[in-house]
Order: sequence, then C-alpha cells, then structure tokens
Amino acid sequence: LDGIRKTYRTKGRPEVQAVRGFDLDVHSGELVGLLGPSGCGKSTTLRMIAGLEDVTSGDIRVGGTSMVGLPPQRRNIGVAFENYALYPPLTVAENIAFGLRARGKANRKERVADVARRIGLGDILDARPVGLSSGQKQRVALARAIVRQPDVLLLDEPLSHLDAAQRDTTRRELRHLQQELGYTTILVTHDQEEALSLADRVVVMNDGVVQQVGTPDEIYDDPANLFVARFVGEPP
Ligand code: ATP
Ligand code: MG
Repeated sequence: LDGIRKTYRTKGRPEVQAVRGFDLDVHSGELVGLLGPSGCGKSTTLRMIAGLEDVTSGDIRVGGTSMVGLPPQRRNIGVAFENYALYPPLTVAENIAFGLRARGKANRKERVADVARRIGLGDILDARPVGLSSGQKQRVALARAIVRQPDVLLLDEPLSHLDAAQRDTTRRELRHLQQELGYTTILVTHDQEEALSLADRVVVMNDGVVQQVGTPDEIYDDPANLFVARFVGEPP
C-alpha cells in the first residue's frame, strides 16, 4: 500500500478524509492485524484494497501489479466482511461456490467440499443460511473468500458476532487455517487482544493515519505514542 488516501465527498456535507496516506508492505504469508477505534478508516482501507471503493490517491500493488482501476472481480482478493453477505436462497455449498464465479467450472464441487471440510462445514453443505448460527455463517463467508485461493485475504471483524467462547475457538481455528494454507491476510478489528494474539504484525490506526506498525511485542512493550499506549493498554 503506497500512500493510499480516501476522501469521501458527499454533496451538501463536509468532506471526510477517511484514510490519509497509508503505507504498508505486507509480506507473503503474513497475517497483519489492522487495529483502531470505530471510524478510524479500517473498513475503508480494506474496501479500497478489494476494489469496492476507489482510492482518492496512492497505489495498491499485489506482487508488483497495480490494482488501481481494476474492478473487484479482476483482483484475486478474497473478502469476508462482518455482515456475512450470504445469499439466503442458496445452500451453504452454493454460497461457497459463489466465490468461484469468475473461475472455470473444473473441480468446482471438489474445491467447495474440500474448503468446507477444512473449515468445519462439511456436514451442513446442503443447509441454508437462515438456520445457521453466527459462527457457522461467519465460516461460510470465510470459506467463500478462500475457495478461489486468493493472493490476499481480507477479513473485516471476522469474530465480531460471536460470543466469547465461540470467539476463542474460531480465533484459534483461523490462525491454524491461515498458517496451514499460508494466506497473506489483513484482518481488521477494534479488539486489541484479538489483534495482538492473532497477528504476526499489527498496524495501529487512528483518524485515518497509521500510528505504529510492529510485532505484537513491539506494540505492547514499546508503543510509539500516547494514543497507541492507551488504546493497546485498554482492557477489551
Ligand atoms: P468501525 O470500526 O466502526 O467499522 P472503521 O474503522 O471501519 O469503523 P470506516 O467505516 O472506514 O471506519 O469509516 C471511516 C470514516 O469514513 C468514518 O468517519 C465514516 O463515517 C466515513 N465513511 C465511511 N464510509 C463512508 C461513505 N460511504 N461516505 C461518507 N463517509 C463515509
Ligand atoms: Mg469497519
């Protein structure tokens, strides 16, 4: 991410500088936690990477290729956002297969079944979203994001709708899955503990600006400024 910025301009409203110059190198296979308070620009950043929102300026490159100007379906980026966005009339298997829409038909069923099995959805492939628990819905959204084997995986508050126990289990599974499959992942959260326990590196953001980038230990032991110290020190 090379100096990406987002200014929302809505007629009759003051402009909002949601992201104000974001630089970050994410290494292959790394899990980066993007942490910050509500409204600081986390989702806007992910939406720009996914191509759901245009950058106002700056560049986004994946493996040296600029993504700017490419529509979402031409970026090989998997996204799972907190509201799941599952299609109610479709079964779990069909929802997951939707992640393959731009891909060939070859091995479709096998790929869906393989991902579903890895992620603990093997038994409910024929169920519909309405009957599923929050945790299950979150897994379906995750399965849909990874079934196409994306270059980059973007997760926006993937554990937000879960209760404490589910969150703990899902957090461990997510970490395991990410390590096993080696996805380059950016995970957005406003939960310090979640970011510090899951991520290889953490980016702390406030008011559209990156405050610090570092390993969980660095962030915790040596916060760059008062904001980071307070935000990371706060009990969840
Ligand atoms: P949360 O933790 O609550 O999800 P966030 O860090 O994801 O917050 P964003 O959703 O990226 O924050 O929003 C950043 C800022 O941009 C906020 O001030 C928000 O009100 C504003 N914003 C987001 N989307 C739009 C939009 N479509 N039009 C105008 N302003 C927007
Ligand atoms: Mg958000």
